[in-house]
Formats: sequence, C-alpha cells, structure tokens
Amino acid sequence: MIEQGRDYDRIGRFTPFEMGRRASCSACYRQFNRMEHLVDHMRTSFHSVHEPTCGVCKKHCRSFESLREHLIGPLPKQECRNVFNIRGCKFCLAILDSPYALRVHQDRCQLSGVSHGISAYMANLGLRDSLTIDNGYSRGPQVVALACKTVGGGSDRSLDLCARVCIIDENENIIFHTYVKPSIPVTNYRYETTGIRPEHLRDAMPLRQVQRKVQDFLCNGEPTWKIRSPKGGKARILVGHGLDHDLDKMQVEYPPIMIRDTAKYPPLMKTSKLSNSLKYLTQAYLGYDIQNGIQDPYEDCVATMRLYVRMRRQVHRRQDYPLASDPQNRNNFASWRQNELERMSPEEMLAISRSDYYCWCLDSA
Ligand SMILES: [Zn+2]
Ligand SMILES: [Zn+2]
Ligand SMILES: [Zn+2]
Ligand SMILES: [Zn+2]
Repeated sequence: MIEQGRDYDRIGRFTPFEMGRRASCSACYRQFNRMEHLVDHMRTSFHSVHEPTCGVCKKHCRSFESLREHLIGPLPKQECRNVFNIRGCKFCLAILDSPYALRVHQDRCQLSGVSHGISAYMANLGLRDSLTIDNGYSRGPQVVALACKTVGGGSDRSLDLCARVCIIDENENIIFHTYVKPSIPVTNYRYETTGIRPEHLRDAMPLRQVQRKVQDFLCNGEPTWKIRSPKGGKARILVGHGLDHDLDKMQVEYPPIMIRDTAKYPPLMKTSKLSNSLKYLTQAYLGYDIQNGIQDPYEDCVATMRLYVRMRRQVHRRQDYPLASDPQNRNNFASWRQNELERMSPEEMLAISRSDYYCWCLDSA
C-alpha cells in the first residue's frame, strides 16, 4: 500500500525523500544524506533515457560494462542476477520475457565472424576502389566503416605508417580496399600481425592519393566547413575504432560530429577514460572472436559496423532536445535556483536531466 505524502520509486519501493532528509537518485539509486547532495549529484551525472538500464530494477548505468557488473559481475545485485540467469541475454544484456524467448533472441544476437577468404582474396588482387561521390542523392545519411593497419617506420621502428585501408558500407560490402605505399621507408613490416610483405607495398597506392580519395569520399561533395550535423547533409557517417589514430595516419580530417567511434562511445567504454579493445567488444557484445594472428582491416570494419548498428537500434524515449548542450532545454540545471531544485522530487530532477553524449539511437530518427 502506498502511503500518502511519501515517495516511492518506479517499482514501488519507498524512497526516503523528504526535505532535509535522505534522498536517493531516481536513476542510479545512490543514496544521499541531504537533498542538496542529490542536487549536486544530478548536476554532474547527466542521467538520461539513453543510459544502459537494468531490465529488472531499471537502474541506470553509465556503461554496458557497469550494467554487466550489476548483473553478473563479482558483486552483482542478487535479485537482478537471479532474473538475468534465467532470461537475460549475455551479449546485449537485455531481459527477455521467457527462457524460450531468450533462446530465440540469443540465436540472433550472437553473430559469427566473417570469412577471411574474401578479404585475403581481394587484398591479393591488390585493390578494390568504388569510392564514388554520389552527392548524397541516395536515401538518408550513408554510414561507412573504416579501418587501417599500420607498419613501423623511423629508426626505432615505432612510427606508425598506414599500410592498408579498408572501407565498407552498412551491408558489409567492401567499397575500398588497398595497400598503401607510405611516404617514408618502412623499417618494420610487423608481419606476424599485419601479414604485409615488402612486395605488397612496392607498387601500392601512394598515401597522398589514398588521403585525397578517402577525404573526398567521406565528404561526398560537401565542403568540410558546411558539415555541421549528421542530418540532412551529403557527408557520410564514419564508423570505426580509435579513428583519431587511423585518420591521423591517413592525414584525413573529418568533423567529430560525423564520427561514431566504438573506442570513445561512453556506453561501450571500460571507464570514463579507458576504452575497451575492439577484440573485447566483439567477443562480449557480438559473441565471436577477431584479431587472431594476422589482422584484417575488413574484419575490424565489420565488427565496428555491427557494434554501431546494434547501438543505433536501441529503443530510447524520444525527446525534442536530447542533449545537455542543446540550448533549448534548461537541463544544465544552471537556470534553476538551488532551492527550486531541492524542492523537486528525484523523479522530477531526472525528468529534466539530459545526456552529455550523443546517443547513437538518435541517428535512426
Ligand atoms: Zn544518480
Ligand atoms: Zn539513445
Ligand atoms: Zn538491476
Ligand atoms: Zn541480446
């Protein structure tokens, strides 16, 4: 029975919210001794509908990694773990309606790796180049994934030189695939992981040409200065893992607003500062193994694209101004007086809170 004048959270538990007394956050359930401490917490936590959420207790987590810990980690929340053990998907962490629904779901959720054959064959042909500029007249913003492999240069052999590039489309078709001739001498081919030999690079496409082609392909006829939003323009959305490094090695500049990096997306990160490896993400979230022995950029492209598509498919409540940085919403809490906030219930505070990162589900709108 719900008592009058007291607050209950969304699963009907009593939350001790009264002025000047203990209060708990409506999103992460952290307890605070004073309302003002909860207000401070809300100002800096950027809770939102986009956070990974426990399918059992509805707790919001900063990342899938912390949700995983909450469900199956060394110190899980016992009630949630019990439900998860029976009908939780170990890949996407969703809770299904029944063990049967889980089996059906998990068969689709776990993917298998791509055949090495195709890419090795293409690489031996030397090149695939369908980098055409279509000026965006086909449907919607196009999404492509890019990955590079580097060899070593410089006297200590540690300088990364781009030696192989692959670009795929959303259907995992190879659009561009080539060896690259670096502009300075290679001092370490890193053969055990790259599979690259001197003869592969001798007559390969020069770096400068690759740079120009890739740059033009990504912008797709749009001048770089005009690219301000993933919506409505001709430029392509670029998916990858650690793209800062890849783009830097290719000397390509691309606006961050068009980049979807699985190494920098908060829900996929280990901690707020530390990325997960692509190998780990693929194993944990897609259920198959990559980067054993010789690494293939096609395989990396496919893994990042699949992670992106999965993140984009998340179903989150639509909001007009989803980001804390959107000037239209008053979410930044700055426009509210401290005493106004302290009078709000934890639920009301959560309702005005917005995300501090761009959730990829927004690309699907
Ligand atoms: Zn919280
Ligand atoms: Zn979202
Ligand atoms: Zn839970
Ligand atoms: Zn799943």
